[in-house]
Amino acid sequence: MTSPEVSETLQVLNRVFGYDSFRQGQQEIVDHVTSGGDALVLMPTGGGKSLCYQIPALVRQGVGVVISPLIALMQDQVDALRALGVRAGFLNSTQDPDERRMVEAEFLAGELDLLYLAPERLRVESTLQLLDRGKVALFAIDEAHCVSQWGHDFRPDYLALSDLHERWPDVPRIALTATATKATHAEIASRLKLEDAHHFVASFDRPNIQYRIVPKNEPKKQLLDLLRSEHSGDAGIVYCLSRKSVEETADFLVRNGIEALPYHAGLDARTRSEHQARFLREDGLVVVATIAFGMGIDKPDVRFVAHLDLPKSVEGYYQETGRAGRDGLPSTAWLAYGLQDVVQQRKLIDGSEGDAAHRRKQSAHLDAMLALCETVECRRVQLLAYFGQDGAACGNCDTCLAPPESWDGTVAAQKLLSTVVRLRRERRQKFGAGQIIDILLGRKTSKVVQHDHDSLSVFGVGTELAESEWRGVVRQLLAKGLLAVEGDYGTLVTTPGSDEVLYQGRQVLLRREPKRAAKASTRTRR
Ligand code: ADP
Ligand code: ZN
Repeated sequence: MTSPEVSETLQVLNRVFGYDSFRQGQQEIVDHVTSGGDALVLMPTGGGKSLCYQIPALVRQGVGVVISPLIALMQDQVDALRALGVRAGFLNSTQDPDERRMVEAEFLAGELDLLYLAPERLRVESTLQLLDRGKVALFAIDEAHCVSQWGHDFRPDYLALSDLHERWPDVPRIALTATATKATHAEIASRLKLEDAHHFVASFDRPNIQYRIVPKNEPKKQLLDLLRSEHSGDAGIVYCLSRKSVEETADFLVRNGIEALPYHAGLDARTRSEHQARFLREDGLVVVATIAFGMGIDKPDVRFVAHLDLPKSVEGYYQETGRAGRDGLPSTAWLAYGLQDVVQQRKLIDGSEGDAAHRRKQSAHLDAMLALCETVECRRVQLLAYFGQDGAACGNCDTCLAPPESWDGTVAAQKLLSTVVRLRRERRQKFGAGQIIDILLGRKTSKVVQHDHDSLSVFGVGTELAESEWRGVVRQLLAKGLLAVEGDYGTLVTTPGSDEVLYQGRQVLLRREPKRAAKASTRTRR
């Protein structure tokens, strides 16, 4: 059944890259581009996009020209390819003229398989003339969402890429992106004149992963319960935000009879690689790690990925949870998150280097992550929708298995928001959720008395809810943008949306806090 071309691409996969077989979707794309077709590829991060142009570039005559905005990564990418014996080079603004001339000479002499170019290079006429004088096997446009106004990193340089086709009509083009919203997809196709190209859309769904997100109370104990009741003896990854909590959590698990190893950038290189090697080699080990762990880890039988802290973005969450269940067997993605996570991440964003636009982007990422946490709908549907894909309720996530009830939280929201407004009006701005909730519950703590908050008219007006329920209200209002948090102390502040709730009767539907974390009832074991 295999055509000569197919076996040639498979051979390159085996011989050069050392992999046995193509991943889902790769083969069709590789074959299509190898035989000269144009392609637009939407594939999740980590799905294996690079091979989709690297193998055709190696099989076809000439040099594969890769346009990538990730200038900082070019050296590493090229080094990695060279280590495999692939003749690769790059041209970007970080090089001095001598280095550039050397790469150009290699290109012209036909001594390269792959040439990485920063997009701005193609606005320079001399680069275009250079490409004319050599033989180009294909153009790969990586991070193709950069061409889109909808995308996160719009690059005017990318617009010029639509001209490639006019200048080199016979050279196949493959554009690749992991950003799959419908609007972006359509815009990439039209801006790069790839309407007639074959569109390959990989699914972002991982049906064997059960997504669960629970309120964080005693995270280490909650984790231990999960491991004991559902994952005893299983291999898994536990993600924590800080090195300190990685160490503490690993210690805690070990003390409770679970074989766990820490992994973070503060450990020396030998320990790190030893722990990683043991995780890959041995059965049933748990690695407790910062997000430094996992890149390029391809262990098929990771049965659970647990997050003890909120990931910074849905993309990150998807990538990290995606390390579970590569073998297709049932696996768990479990996340515990609480109000403190939101405060902490806000603080990180506010204090981060970079300009206002960068901070806005980080905020948008956090908001999307919060929305996923607080959704009353199927987690999978929400996750896929984030990546622009449709799906029906999965029947296998926590919200599907135990649909959260919703309740009319308008009055509760008004009580909470008016407390926030009062403290603000009195220029007492340094109060977080704890103080606000103490006031609502009518608790005469020393801090309440000290600031005379027991004389406020809202003091004690919220006794109909328990503290954990109020925390849920705060989290959900944050997720809905009806409340915001700022500064080092997690000060709660109002938003334009808050005013609608307070003064315009906007209704607020909230999800009821689960009494107990939903447990998997349909899980089938190996
Ligand atoms: P993407 O660009 O889509 O994020 P990469 O191309 O970087 O993903 O690939 C992600 C990881 O998967 C890399 O470590 C890569 O070597 C590995 N990989 C890709 N294809 C295969 C395959 N067919 N078999 C095994 N590993 C693969
Ligand atoms: Zn579901």
